[in-house]
Amino acid sequence: MRKISIAPSSAGVWGPNDGCQGAPAMRAKVPREPFGQAAAEGTAAHAVAEGMILEAAGNYSRRTLGIGEVYKNGVVITREMHDSARIYADDVIGEMRKRSVFTPVVEGKHNITRVHPGQWGYTDCDLYDKKHRSLIVWDYKNGRTPVEVVGNWQLINYVAALLEKYEIDGLEDQRTTVIMRIVQPNAYHRDGIIREWRVMACDLRPQINILAKNAAAAMSGTAPCRTGTHCKWCSARTVCPAAMAAGTALLEMVGDPNPMELTPTQVAAQYELALRAKEHIAGLLTGYTQQMLALAKDGGVPGWSVAHGRGSVGWAIPAEGVQQLGTIAGVDLLKPAAVLTPKQAEEAGVPANLIEMYSKVTPGKLCPQKVDTKELFNG
Ligand code: SF4
Repeated sequence: MRKISIAPSSAGVWGPNDGCQGAPAMRAKVPREPFGQAAAEGTAAHAVAEGMILEAAGNYSRRTLGIGEVYKNGVVITREMHDSARIYADDVIGEMRKRSVFTPVVEGKHNITRVHPGQWGYTDCDLYDKKHRSLIVWDYKNGRTPVEVVGNWQLINYVAALLEKYEIDGLEDQRTTVIMRIVQPNAYHRDGIIREWRVMACDLRPQINILAKNAAAAMSGTAPCRTGTHCKWCSARTVCPAAMAAGTALLEMVGDPNPMELTPTQVAAQYELALRAKEHIAGLLTGYTQQMLALAKDGGVPGWSVAHGRGSVGWAIPAEGVQQLGTIAGVDLLKPAAVLTPKQAEEAGVPANLIEMYSKVTPGKLCPQKVDTKELFNG
């Protein structure tokens, strides 16, 4: 078993009261998940942005990596990564210039004893504007799954670190504004690719206290496991007894016909339960699929084989051949000229910010939305 670790990046799992304080101990029992290509590209994109920000601050200790260069982890810097890093770096640089504060801390390692003795973490970037009593912390996300900024436990964990680092005490935190920003150029979100949550530092005290309480429980190694949507991101989900039991229970719940007349509150509760079941089962399915494929390489699973699923069907001949085929069959097989969709354009390398500028989102089907928690946190 490895050492139990409560990284800020997984604070969304162990941090909230309805999270899973048993997860850090459970994860310590399973092998680390391999560092995938997406994670390696994220690390390289962060390194590009680091160079850009430090250069703008007059610090030339890190050179900005150019397109086509190979980062030390073997990832080639692509135009897409460069454009994405530029969006994040420009946001930081804009803030530095606006405030005339050129002391950003990029990829800073911080102790977070306020949450738990021995806890530490790296922030992507922070900027403390002491004169205007503002503390800004950025989290640059390279992934495509949108991450909410309001109530984000990872950012709250970082703020706890920074309040400690800049010695912002219980008096000063009542006059200090904390600005938390997520920059996520590759994900579509209704609030755009740069999202912000702004609060007075003292308003985060309750959340920091919750983090401290739950960090202690998590580090004790005896906290129970509590299933929820957070299981989707937990590397122990395929060996965790609670997750497996919940998966079975949720499957039974989905299959259980419910002929009762329900009140609106009960309908909402059932809806939430069904959503949770869907995400939970999707998480289990992903984990077990990986295990089955790995087992198949090692001799297979009795009663199972591995085969390609049915993919899409495409022409095996060039367009002229398709045209000739159409002439023979008396059918016009040529489509009128069309432009790529925004998603195809993004895949073809058009920067996400340009796509966002020149595309529009047609609202999808109406679906229930939980009330925004912004008001709860902003009081
Ligand atoms: S799978 Fe879910 S319940 Fe199990 S340890 Fe991970 S987060 Fe906790």
